[in-house]
Amino acid sequence: NETSVKSAAHLYPVYIGENLRHQTDHYLSKSYSSVLIITDETVASHYLSDVQESVSQETVYVHVIPAGEKAKSVDTFYQLHTKAIEYGLDRQSLIIALGGGVVGDVAGFVAATFMRGIDFIQMPTTILAHDSSVGGKVAINHEQGKNLIGSFYAPVAVIYDVGTLHTLPDNEIRSGYAELLKEALLADGDLYQSLIMKDLSSLSNKDLADKLLKGIEIKAGIVGIDERESGIRQHLNLGHTLGHALESLLGYGYRTHGELVALGLLFAFRVSEKTFSSQLPYEQLYTWLKSNGYPFKLPFVEPARILSKMKKDKKTLRTTIQMVLLKDIAKPALVEISDEDLLNYLHDFQKELE
Ligand code: NAD
Ligand code: ZN
Repeated sequence: NETSVKSAAHLYPVYIGENLRHQTDHYLSKSYSSVLIITDETVASHYLSDVQESVSQETVYVHVIPAGEKAKSVDTFYQLHTKAIEYGLDRQSLIIALGGGVVGDVAGFVAATFMRGIDFIQMPTTILAHDSSVGGKVAINHEQGKNLIGSFYAPVAVIYDVGTLHTLPDNEIRSGYAELLKEALLADGDLYQSLIMKDLSSLSNKDLADKLLKGIEIKAGIVGIDERESGIRQHLNLGHTLGHALESLLGYGYRTHGELVALGLLFAFRVSEKTFSSQLPYEQLYTWLKSNGYPFKLPFVEPARILSKMKKDKKTLRTTIQMVLLKDIAKPALVEISDEDLLNYLHDFQKELE
C-alpha cells in the first residue's frame, strides 16, 4: 500500500502496511552519513529495536524522550540539538521520528532547524499520527500555547507500520479514529459509513491500513491545495471548534484530543442541521460514539465560558465564530455563527449529552 503527498517543496511517498518497521532500509531512497532515531520511552520499549535492526547504515544513534505532550518543549528541542551536535550529525544525516504526533512534531522541528534543515522520515505509531505526519507542519509548544513555535517542513517519506497500533491504549485509538471520521465526513461518505459499521475493538490491521490510507489521501488532497492554511485547509477544523475549547477548559490530558473532537463532530452535525436544514445521521453517530467509549459524561462548563474559549482559539481570526459545517456528508462549508445562536446550540447540546 502506497500513496504520495505533494508539498510546496516536493512530493514524498507514504508507505503503509504491516511489518514495515522491519524493513526500514528498503524505504530509504539514498544513503546517509549518519542516522538519528528519535522516539519516546513507551514506543522505544515496544519497537525501537525492530527499527534499529532494520537500518543497516553504519552510524545509527538513538535518543529517547519522555512520553507525552510535555516533551514538545523548548528544553527537549534544545537537548536534541545538543545530541545532534555531539553525535556529529551533518547535512547528509537523517532523522527518523518513530512515534506519535509528539515525537513527529518535535523531531520534525529539530530536522527543520538543525543546520538549516536535514532530511527526516516520519514513522508514525499512533492512529492520530496518520494526520500529524502528513501536511508538513512541525512544532513545539510555548508556555503560552500549543504549537506556537514551528514551521512547515515536509518529511522525505512516511513509513507507517500499522502492526504497531495494537499496543495503543483504547483512549489513544479513539483519539486518532476521530480524526479519521472527520476526514471521511469532509470528503467520502462511503468511507464514513464503513468507519462506523464496526466497533473499534473488531478492527483488523488490514482494515485499518486501508482506512488510514484513505484518510491520508483526503488530508493530503486538502493540504496539497492549501498548504498554508488560508482557505479550504480550514475544513480540517471540523469538530475542532468545540473540541479545542473543551480540551483547554477541562485541562489538556483530561481526555485525549480526538475524544473531544468526536463530540465536536456531533455538535457540528447539530449546528449544520439548524443552519442548512440538512439531514445528517446524528443518531447513528451518537450511538456509535457512545458504544465505543467516547466521553459523554463531562464536567459541566457554562456555555458562555465555552464560547469565550472558542474566541481565544488561535485559529479564529474574527470576533464572530466561524465553524466548519456540513451541508451534507462530504459537503463542508465555513459558516459564521452568531454568539446568540451558538449559546443556544451549546445549551441544547449539553442537554442531549446528559
Ligand atoms: P503522542 O505522540 O503523545 O502519543 C500518545 C501516547 O501513545 C504517548 O504516550 C505515546 O508514548 C504512546 N504511544 C505511541 N505509539 C504507541 C504504540 N504503538 N503503542 C503504545 N503506545 C504508544 O500523541 P498523538 O496523539 O500521536 O499526537 C498528538 C500530538 O500531535 C499533539 O502534540 C498535536 O499537537 C500533534 N498534532 C500535530 C499535527 C500536525 O499537523 N503536525 C496534527 C495533529 C496533531
Ligand atoms: Zn485534531
